[in-house]
Amino acid sequence: MKISDIYNNKTSLPLSFEVFPPKGDEIDSKIDRLIDELNILKKFNPKLVSVTYGAGGSNRDTSFEIVNRLKADEFNVMPHFTCICTKRSTIRAHFNELQKMNIENVLALRGDEPKDNKICYMDFKYANELVEYLKSFTDFSIGIAGYPEGHISAPDLNTDILNLKKKVDAGGDVIFTQLFFDNSKFYNYLELLKRNNINIPVVAGILPISSYAQLDKMLSLAKVTIPDALLSKIEKFKDNNDYIKKLGIEYATNQCLDLIKNNVDGLHFYTLNKSYSTAKILENINL
Ligand code: FAD
Repeated sequence: MKISDIYNNKTSLPLSFEVFPPKGDEIDSKIDRLIDELNILKKFNPKLVSVTYGAGGSNRDTSFEIVNRLKADEFNVMPHFTCICTKRSTIRAHFNELQKMNIENVLALRGDEPKDNKICYMDFKYANELVEYLKSFTDFSIGIAGYPEGHISAPDLNTDILNLKKKVDAGGDVIFTQLFFDNSKFYNYLELLKRNNINIPVVAGILPISSYAQLDKMLSLAKVTIPDALLSKIEKFKDNNDYIKKLGIEYATNQCLDLIKNNVDGLHFYTLNKSYSTAKILENINL
């Protein structure tokens, strides 16, 4: 089912789960475990599972394998795709393959620039160019990334929103946001989107915090505020993983309840390939 239909014609709140391709040895058994985790979450009736994709296509084969496996298990899938360092012809071939797999959705991304200033093919500099290209030869429904506190390399939030508008005008159907912990930042973002005449659905990205190290890594890659009260608890108990996991569930539960009260278009969980915290939150909010 296309994301444009899921989010524009919803009868209940759409839930989606994001996973990433495992790395290292014994990939097959890691993928088996990942699929098992998602099957645990199936009882919550997700409308979509999204699968990340390394910038420059570094993990293309594993990403595709997971997409295939999820299709076989009757999940509705949205592969992510990054265009940085990728030739136009490679993108064409990639999408021909996805079409053969009967995939109907994609999250169209630029991907992060190489850290080492490596020179690479730049047929596409920004995601809006990828969206425009995909619209020229596929009928995929297209998700695009949004950043409630601004993209890390954007000079400010308003400039980032003007750039987001380019993706919407090129044919983006649904915005999936970066994780955030302060709902007021998300509501402010929705207001700014409206003022800029961006009227497509906006799906809120929720991260159930499960460890201090994982949070620290994520925050180094993104512009995300942690409210002081949450941060002080995390810092105080940073070596107590059980406590942090419990706190993450409690915090995300309250965040989701508030978003639901404010008529959010959808909830997108960054599952980190585990079902436990996401399942607990969904049991708590009892949709
Ligand atoms: P763009 O929309 O191109 O924006 C990138 C930057 O350029 C922004 O600062 C923007 O303001 C600016 N900009 C955009 N268009 C223009 C323009 N026309 N002219 C001038 N400036 C412009 N990364 C991965 O590698 N793999 C993934 O699977 C992945 N999944 C993600 C899922 C979600 C929900 C989100 C929110 C992010 C994800 N990312 C992923 C991270 C993303 O690839 C990076 O944040 C990347 O740096 C930006 O990608 P984008 O598509 O938002 O780029």
